[in-house]
Amino acid sequence: MSRTGKIIDIDCQCGCKLFRYYKAGKGRLIKLLISRLSEDRVGLAGLETHSKPVCPACGSELGIIMMIHGEPALKLNQGTIRGVRI
Ligand SMILES: [Zn+2]
Repeated sequence: MSRTGKIIDIDCQCGCKLFRYYKAGKGRLIKLLISRLSEDRVGLAGLETHSKPVCPACGSELGIIMMIHGEPALKLNQGTIRGVRI
């Protein structure tokens, strides 16, 4: 693990807990690499590229599944999610 990394909880704007994630490096959270999720309450693993997963509580679109450097990732819809460092 990099020293600048942090574990963050990611919630929907509606308050539903979605993910716990290890974020490497600094800066804004743009995407989630699915391999770095330690909790996934949405079920991203195994979704097809270009799927648009939704919040299980309110149905808001969370983003879109993309391949980034050969790895599946969720590119976040910035209006829907909020990240909190823990
Ligand atoms: Zn929600």
